[in-house]
Amino acid sequence: MARERVYRTRAVVLKRRDHGEADRILTTYTPDFGKRVFLARGVRKPASRKAGHLEPFTHVNLLLAKGRTWDLVTQAETVYGFRPLREDLDRAAHAYYLAELIDAFTEEEDAHIELYDLLLAGLRLLEKTDKLALTTRWFELELLKLSGFQPEFFHCVECGDEIQPVTNYFSAELGGVLCPRHGEGRAHAIALDVGALKVLRYIQSQPYEQAERLELTDARMRQIERVLADYIRHVLERKLKTPDFIHRL
Ligand SMILES: [Zn+2]
Repeated sequence: MARERVYRTRAVVLKRRDHGEADRILTTYTPDFGKRVFLARGVRKPASRKAGHLEPFTHVNLLLAKGRTWDLVTQAETVYGFRPLREDLDRAAHAYYLAELIDAFTEEEDAHIELYDLLLAGLRLLEKTDKLALTTRWFELELLKLSGFQPEFFHCVECGDEIQPVTNYFSAELGGVLCPRHGEGRAHAIALDVGALKVLRYIQSQPYEQAERLELTDARMRQIERVLADYIRHVLERKLKTPDFIHRL
């Protein structure tokens, strides 16, 4: 179906890169088209009125004109600028990571409204929380769930037996936890003590408001982060090999 010559959309800017003398190419996430790339002409000129509205993770209202390679941003108006994130380096770093994750997990022109909502929710939470790491782990688990890669934390992914409260193992390759019988000595499986597994299950299964109440030591937080980072890396590597992965949802 032919697109209108001019159209409007809301979008969250995921990233941008310079193009030509004064232009920028923007990668955005939109409610109706999923990820879509736009060209913003002249935004690197000091007098550009659009520039301030097209910063990473800005929620923006765009007026676009159909272009040959990329549609052109003709007007940009901030819906919400996430100012508290920009005023705090640590918050900003986490916000960049959320935008990067959405970019990495999605294909262009594959609308997924829940991911759009999740991104906005995640950015809103990062503005206020004093638990940036925990909020980011919650976001990772939600993203994995919505993308069809929810890790299994309750049954051994090899034998299906219910996981017992002992030290078990996590296999990024198999996408879940292994009982001691199947995890011990297995290459690339990470040991997962009872406490770590409980925390992962809790964050995965509880609403954010509950999960945010968890009080975790730095060591525990790093352990959870490592398990999820390992798994996300694995999912993204697999995804690169099968570009149409998302369509099996
Ligand atoms: Zn097993």
